[in-house]
Amino acid sequence: MTNPNIYDMVILGGGLVGASLASALRATSLRIAVIEAAPWFTKHRPPSYDDRVLVLSYSSQRIFTGIGIWEQIVPAATPIQQIHVSDQGHFGFTRLKNQDLGTSALGHVVTALHLGQVLQATLNTSSIEIWAPAQVVQIQYNNQLITVTVNQNEQTQTLSTRLLVIADGGRSPVRQQLGITSHEVDYQQTAIIAHVTPSSPHQQVAYERFTASGPLALLPLPDNHCSLVWTKTPAQAKTIMAWNDSAFLSALQQEFGWRLGQFRHVGQRHAYPLRLVRAQPLTRSRAVVIGNAAHTLHPVAGQGLNLGLRDVASLVETVVNSWQNGEDIGSATTLQRYVAWQQPDHQRLINLTDQLINVFANTLPPLVVLRNLGLLMIDSLPPLKKQFVRQMAGMKSYPSRLVRGLPRV
Ligand SMILES: Cc1cc2nc3c(=O)[nH]c(=O)nc-3n(C[C@H](O)[C@H](O)[C@H](O)COP(=O)(O)OP(=O)(O)OC[C@H]3O[C@@H](n4cnc5c(N)ncnc54)[C@H](O)[C@@H]3O)c2cc1C
Repeated sequence: MTNPNIYDMVILGGGLVGASLASALRATSLRIAVIEAAPWFTKHRPPSYDDRVLVLSYSSQRIFTGIGIWEQIVPAATPIQQIHVSDQGHFGFTRLKNQDLGTSALGHVVTALHLGQVLQATLNTSSIEIWAPAQVVQIQYNNQLITVTVNQNEQTQTLSTRLLVIADGGRSPVRQQLGITSHEVDYQQTAIIAHVTPSSPHQQVAYERFTASGPLALLPLPDNHCSLVWTKTPAQAKTIMAWNDSAFLSALQQEFGWRLGQFRHVGQRHAYPLRLVRAQPLTRSRAVVIGNAAHTLHPVAGQGLNLGLRDVASLVETVVNSWQNGEDIGSATTLQRYVAWQQPDHQRLINLTDQLINVFANTLPPLVVLRNLGLLMIDSLPPLKKQFVRQMAGMKSYPSRLVRGLPRV
């Protein structure tokens, strides 16, 4: 008889990454529990299932195809046909097109809310156990298992597992509890998020404009709305958040220009302070950190979730291989295989986002000229453009089965 409190895997955090991992493994006979701090009902979703708009890269599309839920995601997703990158007030620009990637879209824009709803519906009809709302009280090790003490409905219970996956987001209290260090860089920037409606059709083009205070992105949404991600210094963001709609729209118009005609309407605004968080090391005995708990990135290139989903794809493949070979899925050997495979992807994206922020924040005239020449070079050299687009799409040299769009189990 199975011990009611012993699990093969416990996932801490039912955000987009934790829920995707559980969904990817739902067809295995592994016994899995998800512990989520927030309530898990239709009207009370985890806080990360919000109105935030996310660009899903081609690799994420394939991962969700492999998980078997892309068909439910795509009806509410807007495909991106082209990305227009420019440096405000300077000559450089680059246009990236879906043909450069050889796919029907460069990526898809979807709300975190919709993605969360699809994941929740998938898990609610599976054998994955959801413990929510539940708080972790204590974590203890013994040789073969890791024991998590949880408080739910004012009752304390323990779950023992061979592998604890920590996916509890950028602040990750559990990461600290396990002695995993988080290296943090405060970008001194705040992203203001809102839906805006321009007068001209967006034609499924996404815009990324680098400005003196940080990047400004406009992503295409249904009904000709656009999702705005406007990066400002914290002080500027505070002032802008307090403006009325008409002052907000006219400042945005001035900063973005008239490429989309006149901005006519702005919806509710949200502000997110931006920082880089990097967990080191990624594993402890029988525990591994993934998603934002492992790496919280600047949203400049829209890659945080995409990278978290590739963590999921690499971990699923490593764990399933080890399980099918009769090995211990939580052993140091299994976890080191995962780290060796996935860490270079982390390094590459952390470098990319960090360099983009630093290079475009610099006002030194020779560097401004160089970066604008760089943009024009990417625009005019097809092999360079193709390589850049593949990088942004998350196409790896040794892709996991899920990144190839294939189910792992
Ligand atoms: C403005 C903005 C725009 C972005 N745009 C993009 C984009 O275009 N493309 C992209 O790929 N990424 C984007 N991102 C990043 C993306 O939103 C995140 O990478 C992603 O949501 C991280 O998911 P996660 O599940 O790792 O963490 P989270 O979403 O933070 O989820 C963590 C979960 O853990 C739960 N939790 C916390 N503590 C505990 C605990 N102790 N016990 C149990 N549960 C706990 C929380 O309730 C939550 O449900 C953007 C981010 C921002 C801020």
